[in-house]
Amino acid sequence: MTISNSATSWINVPVNSDFSIQNLPFGIFKANGNKPRVGIAIGNDIVDLKALFDLGYLSSLSFTGEDLEYEFLNKVMAHGKQGTRALRLRVGELLDASNNELQGNADHVSNVIVSQSSAEMLLPVQVGDYTDFYSSREHATNVGTMFRDPDNALLPNWLHIPVGYHGRASSIVVSGTPIHRPKGQQKPNEDEPPVWGPCKLLDFELEMAFVTFEGKPLGDSISTDEADDYIFGMCLFNDWSARDIQKWEYVPLGPFLAKNFASTVSPWIVTLDALEQFRIPGPVQEPKIQSYLEYKGNKHIDIKLEVSIETETGEDNVICNSNYKHMYWNMNQQLAHHSVNGCNIKCGDMMASGTISGLTEDSYGSMLELSWKGTKPLKMKDGSERKFIQDNDTVIMRGHCEKDGVRVGFGEVAGKILPAK
Ligand code: MN
Repeated sequence: MTISNSATSWINVPVNSDFSIQNLPFGIFKANGNKPRVGIAIGNDIVDLKALFDLGYLSSLSFTGEDLEYEFLNKVMAHGKQGTRALRLRVGELLDASNNELQGNADHVSNVIVSQSSAEMLLPVQVGDYTDFYSSREHATNVGTMFRDPDNALLPNWLHIPVGYHGRASSIVVSGTPIHRPKGQQKPNEDEPPVWGPCKLLDFELEMAFVTFEGKPLGDSISTDEADDYIFGMCLFNDWSARDIQKWEYVPLGPFLAKNFASTVSPWIVTLDALEQFRIPGPVQEPKIQSYLEYKGNKHIDIKLEVSIETETGEDNVICNSNYKHMYWNMNQQLAHHSVNGCNIKCGDMMASGTISGLTEDSYGSMLELSWKGTKPLKMKDGSERKFIQDNDTVIMRGHCEKDGVRVGFGEVAGKILPAK
């Protein structure tokens, strides 16, 4: 089910590449004038799965050419855990240094291997429904401390429920898509009426998301034990947030226009299989959780995360170092909770973690926390300061796992903020 840690590829994989032969993430790319196709990343290259299929290398599998020449991964994901696992392992076999099947045919290699620099990456998944959780205790505590009571920062439900809300799928875009500063209602002064206009407190949220296979029929639930079989993989996720709009609108039904103007995802979906060896234990959950949220084994994952602001001068300023291991609720618990009432999960649903903040001030996953509501501006290399995100700033998030010399990474998710339209 996994690719050996000692495996190497005959394709050059640069040192510190996120895309080792142990990773092999799936994405949708466009190159050479072809229609969008399914690809697997290796080093600085992409394996063109439609080309592999046309040359007969995938004939032992159940995939069709139509599954692999399609603008989203959904037709591949429709083959479920077993199908996608077999496809990834077959590509791993073909890329292995000790395997001569593809390596030995120079014509085939030139048909199948595409340089990432010559390809355009597209949104990998047609997202049906998008859910955003709120599962980092440190983030929830920071927000509660700033806006409510430091002594009672967590709301009474938080340690019992993986709190979440239904977001909007239509505005999920792939890395590199510029975003216009949103407009909306705000109430900057307590004693004055609301105003409307461009958001002044624009923020990012450092998150990761997982993508699901087809779940169970309406009325059935997915247990924490079963959850892994329903999760295809993960990507980086920037949940752009308009804090001033959010503050005014969120009572009583929660986030709305402050969140649905855009969310940006990284183009490669790293499979759960590739992440398996980076699993670690989660926090002790106290008070005791409901039985349907209990889980066995290590279900948290050690994924190093960072956020940069690239200012207009082109300098990269790392402003946050966090880790996905800081989650209080893991994906298995989130999926079990999401379906405990019989809600049906569909192929291509996307579920984001919520802002991932750690314990230290440099590990907070949003400007709201990093600048502590704007009271502690961050210094940029070009001499300017940031309390929130300015026009023409590019926010870049990166993430990778590393253990025993094996690196499995996500690449990056980047988005530039343009002035309001
Ligand atoms: Mn969020």
